[in-house]
Amino acid sequence: MKCPSCNSEDIRRSRRRGPQEGTTLRLRNEAPFRCCDCGLRFIAKNDALDPADTDRHLSFADYLGLRGWPRRVFTDGVILGSLLTVVLLVLTVTLFALAYGWIDLAFLRAAAPPPQ
Ligand SMILES: [Zn+2]
Repeated sequence: MKCPSCNSEDIRRSRRRGPQEGTTLRLRNEAPFRCCDCGLRFIAKNDALDPADTDRHLSFADYLGLRGWPRRVFTDGVILGSLLTVVLLVLTVTLFALAYGWIDLAFLRAAAPPPQ
Protein backbone atom coordinates (compact mmCIF):
# COMPACT_ATOMS: atom_id res chain seq x y z
CA MET A 1 0.00 0.00 0.00
CA LYS A 2 1.24 3.44 -0.88
CA CYS A 3 0.35 6.94 0.20
CA PRO A 4 -1.86 8.54 -2.46
CA SER A 5 -0.06 11.83 -1.93
CA CYS A 6 3.66 11.12 -1.68
CA ASN A 7 3.82 7.41 -2.70
CA SER A 8 5.54 6.52 0.56
CA GLU A 9 5.08 2.94 1.78
CA ASP A 10 5.48 3.92 5.39
CA ILE A 11 1.77 3.62 6.20
CA ARG A 12 0.17 2.99 9.54
CA ARG A 13 -3.37 2.17 10.53
CA SER A 14 -5.18 5.21 11.89
CA ARG A 15 -7.91 5.18 14.50
CA ARG A 16 -11.49 5.18 13.34
CA ARG A 17 -13.17 8.43 14.27
CA GLY A 18 -16.36 7.84 16.19
CA PRO A 19 -19.12 5.24 15.84
CA GLN A 20 -20.34 6.34 12.43
CA GLU A 21 -17.02 6.08 10.66
CA GLY A 22 -16.33 2.85 12.51
CA THR A 23 -19.48 1.13 11.23
CA THR A 24 -19.52 2.44 7.67
CA LEU A 25 -15.87 1.63 7.12
CA ARG A 26 -16.19 -1.82 8.67
CA LEU A 27 -19.19 -2.62 6.47
CA ARG A 28 -17.17 -1.72 3.38
CA ASN A 29 -14.05 -3.46 4.73
CA GLU A 30 -12.18 -0.19 4.66
CA ALA A 31 -10.02 1.45 7.26
CA PRO A 32 -8.36 4.80 7.84
CA PHE A 33 -4.60 4.92 7.35
CA ARG A 34 -2.01 7.57 7.94
CA CYS A 35 1.15 8.20 6.00
CA CYS A 36 4.14 8.49 8.32
CA ASP A 37 6.04 10.67 5.88
CA CYS A 38 3.58 13.38 4.91
CA GLY A 39 0.96 12.78 7.60
CA LEU A 40 -1.93 12.39 5.17
CA ARG A 41 -4.91 10.49 6.54
CA PHE A 42 -6.76 8.48 3.91
CA ILE A 43 -9.31 5.67 3.61
CA ALA A 44 -8.33 2.46 1.85
CA LYS A 45 -9.36 -1.17 1.58
CA ASN A 46 -8.51 -2.98 4.76
CA ASP A 47 -6.25 -5.61 3.24
CA ALA A 48 -3.83 -7.47 5.46
CA LEU A 49 -1.51 -4.62 6.28
CA ASP A 50 -1.45 -5.68 9.90
CA PRO A 51 -2.67 -9.27 10.25
CA ALA A 52 -2.57 -9.10 14.04
CA ASP A 53 -5.02 -6.24 13.90
CA THR A 54 -7.47 -7.84 11.48
CA ASP A 55 -7.40 -11.27 13.14
CA ARG A 56 -7.92 -9.78 16.56
CA HIS A 57 -11.14 -10.53 18.39
CA LEU A 58 -13.71 -7.83 17.75
CA SER A 59 -15.51 -6.83 20.90
CA PHE A 60 -18.87 -5.07 21.17
CA ALA A 61 -16.95 -1.89 21.93
CA ASP A 62 -15.21 -2.25 18.56
CA TYR A 63 -18.53 -2.55 16.76
CA LEU A 64 -19.85 0.49 18.60
CA GLY A 65 -16.68 2.40 17.71
CA LEU A 66 -15.94 3.20 21.34
CA ARG A 67 -12.52 4.42 22.36
CA GLY A 68 -10.93 5.98 25.39
CA TRP A 69 -12.62 5.47 28.74
CA PRO A 70 -15.99 4.18 27.41
CA ARG A 71 -14.07 1.40 25.73
CA ARG A 72 -12.50 0.38 29.02
CA VAL A 73 -15.81 0.63 30.88
CA PHE A 74 -18.05 -1.12 28.35
CA THR A 75 -16.32 -4.45 28.04
CA ASP A 76 -18.14 -7.43 26.53
CA GLY A 77 -19.11 -8.61 30.00
CA VAL A 78 -20.60 -5.26 30.98
CA ILE A 79 -22.58 -4.94 27.74
CA LEU A 80 -23.88 -8.53 27.88
CA GLY A 81 -24.65 -8.10 31.57
CA SER A 82 -26.69 -4.96 31.01
CA LEU A 83 -28.56 -6.56 28.11
CA LEU A 84 -29.37 -9.57 30.30
CA THR A 85 -30.49 -7.27 33.11
CA VAL A 86 -32.82 -5.37 30.79
CA VAL A 87 -34.30 -8.62 29.44
CA LEU A 88 -34.86 -9.96 32.98
CA LEU A 89 -36.45 -6.66 34.05
CA VAL A 90 -38.83 -6.70 31.10
CA LEU A 91 -39.71 -10.34 31.83
CA THR A 92 -40.35 -9.57 35.50
CA VAL A 93 -42.52 -6.55 34.72
CA THR A 94 -44.46 -8.58 32.15
CA LEU A 95 -45.06 -11.36 34.68
CA PHE A 96 -46.32 -8.86 37.27
CA ALA A 97 -48.48 -7.17 34.66
CA LEU A 98 -50.06 -10.51 33.82
CA ALA A 99 -50.46 -11.52 37.47
CA TYR A 100 -52.17 -8.26 38.44
CA GLY A 101 -54.21 -8.03 35.25
CA TRP A 102 -52.57 -4.86 33.97
CA ILE A 103 -52.43 -6.59 30.62
CA ASP A 104 -55.79 -7.91 29.49
CA LEU A 105 -55.36 -11.21 27.75
CA ALA A 106 -58.72 -10.95 26.03
CA PHE A 107 -57.46 -12.83 23.03
CA LEU A 108 -56.69 -15.84 25.26
CA ARG A 109 -60.01 -15.72 27.07
CA ALA A 110 -61.97 -15.47 23.85
CA ALA A 111 -60.59 -18.86 22.83
CA ALA A 112 -61.70 -20.53 26.09
CA PRO A 113 -65.37 -21.40 26.65
CA PRO A 114 -67.14 -18.82 28.84
CA PRO A 115 -67.63 -19.91 32.48
CA GLN A 116 -71.18 -20.99 33.39
ZN1 LIG B 1 2.43 10.51 2.27
